[in-house]
Amino acid sequence: MHAPYGYLHGLGIAAGFMLLVCLAAADAQVPVAPDARAIEAAKPAAMAQMLSLRDAFVKAAAGSGMACPIPPPAITLTDIPSYGNYDPDTNSLQTPIWELLKPEERALFYRLARQPSGGEPDEAAARREFEIGARRWVFIHEMGHWWQACRKVNDGRKPYAFEYEADRIAAAYWRETDPEVARHMQPIFHGLMEHAPNPVPSGKDTAAYFNDNYEKLGPTPAYIWFQSQMCDRAFAEKPPPSFLQTLRETGHP
Ligand SMILES: [Zn+2]
Repeated sequence: MHAPYGYLHGLGIAAGFMLLVCLAAADAQVPVAPDARAIEAAKPAAMAQMLSLRDAFVKAAAGSGMACPIPPPAITLTDIPSYGNYDPDTNSLQTPIWELLKPEERALFYRLARQPSGGEPDEAAARREFEIGARRWVFIHEMGHWWQACRKVNDGRKPYAFEYEADRIAAAYWRETDPEVARHMQPIFHGLMEHAPNPVPSGKDTAAYFNDNYEKLGPTPAYIWFQSQMCDRAFAEKPPPSFLQTLRETGHP
């Protein structure tokens, strides 16, 4: 099942953001704490946006000609540390909104938004990082896991193939539907590849090492490196697969 992987895969992405934060030089401006009225005010539009994004993915996936026996996932707006999670047991997808983020979670996106010149980003810039990283990239990665559930390929999958497949679907989806998202995320993951130490022992295969050590890798810097490696590899595939190709190839070794 997806469950053993569900928590860790998203956390790896979140931790990736964390590492980028660690790479930043100085403290960002201190964001405000979540506000209950702001949260409630933001929810209707946020939910409509995510339902629209979900339905766009489902519609695009229907173009594969492959049937999905389960309905589109229910969407829950919540402050989830991994910035997104699909649960195949309940067919539900958790995704955050800016207003729900804790100050330390918002700070990550302020730091991601910092310009190379060192200028401090405003809230709009930080929210843009959040919208692209969490509510675009991670969300569609999670829809990739929904598609895996559709195709009944969750059981017995090796972690590397399972996660890489969702990243490959996300990369192809964004290349075709909104290339700016792909252009934005690719250098983030590539940067992590360059800055984080490669945890794979010399002579070992990356995927095999990840699979063999998956449970103990957990939310560690090594796990961050693997998630970045998978995203970087998905973006680097030549020729780039179409979105429908990635869907049709779901479940392949
Ligand atoms: Zn995942």
